[in-house]
Amino acid sequence: MKDSCCEIDDVAYYHGKTEPEKSWIPGTSQSRHSCCDIKVSEDTAICKECSGKGKPVSEITLKSLVKEPVLEAIESLNGFYYCETPTCGVVYLNNEQQVYLHKEDVKVRVGIKETESPIPVCYCFGWTQERIFEQIKQQGYSTAVQEISAKVKTGECECEIKNPSGRCCLGDVNKMVKKGLELYGKNKRRE
Ligand SMILES: [Zn+2]
Repeated sequence: MKDSCCEIDDVAYYHGKTEPEKSWIPGTSQSRHSCCDIKVSEDTAICKECSGKGKPVSEITLKSLVKEPVLEAIESLNGFYYCETPTCGVVYLNNEQQVYLHKEDVKVRVGIKETESPIPVCYCFGWTQERIFEQIKQQGYSTAVQEISAKVKTGECECEIKNPSGRCCLGDVNKMVKKGLELYGKNKRRE
């Protein structure tokens, strides 16, 4: 009997690679499990507008963050990807259905694609670029990463329905804190 989730993974694998490695050739008993583990993070799609890589985004994220009239016009919510290119206006793309959703089709501001405030970074606990930078200007450091990490541990985050990427924001928060420290952290540091 075939495992249906593994069959999908085999297909996704071949779409992404030109030369499959022997151990992943579908139909062999060992391949079934290793392919299942791979798909989640490796699967990408190329955005038609910027040629950047998009990461898979789940149906639950789309349902929560895409504006209703736009959502209703989409045939299937499977096979969508999130474009991470800051300068690209596309937020969600689906090359198979030829559907490209832009910033104006999404209910929230997509922080990585905005240059004017407010620039959201953490959607679950309301951290913006402004709030992080302000902390750094005031006290020389930001508590964003520690505060968010603590809440993630107690299961209070809802990234899947609040963050347009559908993923944890901590990587983005870390980058923003580093950027803030480079810009405003120096005058507070004493050697
Ligand atoms: Zn793009």
